[in-house]
Amino acid sequence: MTIPFVDLYAQYLSIKPDIDAAIETTIKNSSYIGGRVVTEFEEKFAAWIGAKYCIAAGNGTDTLEILLKAYGIGAGDEVIIPSHSWVSTAETVVNVGGVPVFVDTDARLYTLNVDQIEKKINSRTKAIIPVHLFGLPAEMDRIMEIANKHNLVVIEDCAQCHGAEYKGKRTGTFGHAASFSFYPGKNLGAYGDAGCIVTNDENIAKTCRMIANHGQLKKHDHQIPGRNSRLDGLQAAILTAKLKYLDKWTDARIANAAYYNELFKDSVVVTPVIPEHSRHVFHLYVVQVNNRSQVQEALREAGIETAVHYPVPMPAMPAFKEYINGNGSYEVNEGYKDKLLSLPMFPELTHEQMQFVASKVLSIAN
Ligand SMILES: *Cc1c(COP(=O)(O)O)cnc(C)c1O
Repeated sequence: MTIPFVDLYAQYLSIKPDIDAAIETTIKNSSYIGGRVVTEFEEKFAAWIGAKYCIAAGNGTDTLEILLKAYGIGAGDEVIIPSHSWVSTAETVVNVGGVPVFVDTDARLYTLNVDQIEKKINSRTKAIIPVHLFGLPAEMDRIMEIANKHNLVVIEDCAQCHGAEYKGKRTGTFGHAASFSFYPGKNLGAYGDAGCIVTNDENIAKTCRMIANHGQLKKHDHQIPGRNSRLDGLQAAILTAKLKYLDKWTDARIANAAYYNELFKDSVVVTPVIPEHSRHVFHLYVVQVNNRSQVQEALREAGIETAVHYPVPMPAMPAFKEYINGNGSYEVNEGYKDKLLSLPMFPELTHEQMQFVASKVLSIAN
């Protein structure tokens, strides 16, 4: 038995008629850039999440950068972000001229440690970017409380948390705006790069839309210097077709995680924590084991694909060394980074596959 980390082909086969029709219609209409097919996805996604505006864009890195620009964050402005995330969260701050200020993470939740945020706030601080890492919401109540007290913008990085909830409310609706990625392996994935911004702020929505399309809202009316970060029609059609199944797929991910948890119960394997007030959507199922490289190697030999998210905390990356200067405390993240192991996780995973993965892990983990 070989078990992939994600099985996008199995997912395609399960909805083949929908996808094939979406692609065929888009080609028939030659609606490759913009137009009705993109607007339809934006409307459906906004309704699904419960936000007023959705602006589709090229990918989930561009959307973070476009949002930072739209909020006027630039030279010398400090943005508080977790030490543990995909590199986009930090590099976009640098790319607008800002300074990433790293906050350590919680040892079991993996999201940013809210107790450390206020210590990092000063007169240059402009924003906080919480990341709902692996599919678990960050502690949004306290983050919003701190942000409101200090007048900071909150941009949620929702690349890994489509459908996650915190105290009964969807992630992506707490902050001033949110950024989503539809990278193929994400919980809602395109067949290429894609992303979007959601917000209830009309002005920010308008500015983001302009930035993403050469600074124009009407053709040849370039109000500000923008860029080209549009969602193409084929990706929009595929995303609209897949959105219908997202809630069902999320339920399957949650059920799969519960089954893995049961298989690892009372073992040395440290399983994900799910606070009672949160709905974790398991973009990734991440465990901790002391002998990670041994476990990973044994699984590889058994035909099981695994991954590490992420091997290097962002403050330790050469890319950000000039921004550390004593603000890079991340002992907790540093302490668990060599134990993290992401096991196969996707909606179509079977009990038999999970039993095989778990038995291999349990036979070697210490
Ligand atoms: C995937 C991801 C992004 C970037 O998304 P792309 O669409 O790949 O550019 C940003 N932040 C986090 C936390 C991610 O996981």
